[in-house]
Amino acid sequence: MKRRIAVLGSTGSIGRQTLDVVRQHPDLFEIELLTANRSSELLIQQAREFDPANVVICDESLYGEVAEALQDEGIKVFAGIGSVCDLVTSDSVDVVVASMVGFSGLAPTMAAIRAGKVIALANKETLVAAGSIVMAEAEKYHAPILPVDSEHSAIFQCLLAAQGNAVTKLHITASGGPFRTWDREKIASATKSMALKHPNWNMGAKITIDSATMMNKGFEVIEARWLFDMGAKNINVVVHPESIIHSMVEFEDGAVIAQMGCPDMREPIQFALAFPERLPLNNKKLDFAQLGSLSFFAPDMEKFPALGLAFEALERGGNAGCVLNAANEVAVAAYLQDRIGFYDISDIASEALSGSFFVANPTVDDIFSTNDAVAAYAAELVNKIESRRRI
Ligand code: MG
Repeated sequence: MKRRIAVLGSTGSIGRQTLDVVRQHPDLFEIELLTANRSSELLIQQAREFDPANVVICDESLYGEVAEALQDEGIKVFAGIGSVCDLVTSDSVDVVVASMVGFSGLAPTMAAIRAGKVIALANKETLVAAGSIVMAEAEKYHAPILPVDSEHSAIFQCLLAAQGNAVTKLHITASGGPFRTWDREKIASATKSMALKHPNWNMGAKITIDSATMMNKGFEVIEARWLFDMGAKNINVVVHPESIIHSMVEFEDGAVIAQMGCPDMREPIQFALAFPERLPLNNKKLDFAQLGSLSFFAPDMEKFPALGLAFEALERGGNAGCVLNAANEVAVAAYLQDRIGFYDISDIASEALSGSFFVANPTVDDIFSTNDAVAAYAAELVNKIESRRRI
C-alpha cells in the first residue's frame, strides 16, 4: 500500500522538496491533495505531474484559473482555507505534510490532528502559537506528529537511541544566519536583500528573515519544548555556522548523540514520510576530511534580541507564544515590503509581548482572537514606525 499524502503549501520551499522526495519514490508514495495559497501556475503544473484527487487554491479569486486549467484532468478543484480543513480529514489521506507558512497553518493542522492523521510538521508556528493545545489534541486523537524542521528531526532521530533513558539536555544548533559576524550597527541598517541571503539553507522568505533575526531559532526552542516535553532550562542553543550537526541530545552520563548531514531539507522530509524506514536519496553526502573542522559559539543575545524574546514567551506560557508569533508575522511582512528596519522586527515583537494580551489558559478561540488582536496592534506599530521613518 502506498502512503497517500496531502501537501499543504505544496508550492512553498518545503512543499516543492516534499514533491521531489515523492518523485524519487513513486512506488511508496502518492499525492492525494495539493494546496497552495496564491501560486496558481505552479499548483497547476504540480497537479498535472502528480495527479492528486483534489487541489485547493486558498486565494478564492484564483479558483477560476485553476479549475479551468485542470478541468480535463479529473482533478477536483476547491478554493479557500475551509476546503483545506475539510479535505485533510478524508479517509484517503494517510499523511499530512503541514508546510503552510505562519499562523494560517494552525486550523488545517488541527483539523488533520482531529482526524487522527499522521502529521509531518514543518509549520513550526502551529506549535509556537498553540503548543499546549495542539499536543493535547494530538494525544487525544492518536495523531503522531513527526517533525520536519531539521533540528527537530535531528533530535527525534537522536532520541531513537535513548531506549527509555532520561534525556538531560537538547542542544539545538543554529547557523547564526547571514549577520552572525556583523556588528549591531551594520545589522541595524541591513536591507531585506542582505537578510534574504542565508549562508547554508535555501528557504522561503519568511523563515529566511526569521533566521536572520534568530526568531526562527527562538521559535524552534518553543517547538522543541512542545514536541519533546522539555523545559526551557534544558534546551540549549549553540551557534554552529557549518550547519552540519542538525542538533544533539545529551544524556545523564554526559554522552551526547548528534545527527549530521549536508544541509538539505529533503532528508528530514523523507524521514518523516517514510518513518521508521530510511530511503535512498540523491542528496550530497558528507565528506569529513573535506570539512576539516566544525565550529561552535554561544549565541549573541544582544545582537539577536528575538532569541531572548522566545525564551521569555516560553517562561510566561499561556498565549505568549501566540502573541510573539503574531507580532513577528506582521513585522516580517512589513520588513519584506521595506516599510520598517531590521531591529524594528524584534522591537515590535517585544512591545506586543509586554502589552496586555496575556491569557494564562487559552482555548482555541482565545488563540485565534489573540492572533487577530496582536496582528492589528503590530500593524499600528508598523504604521507609526513607517511614518516616523518618512520624516
Ligand atoms: Mg530549522
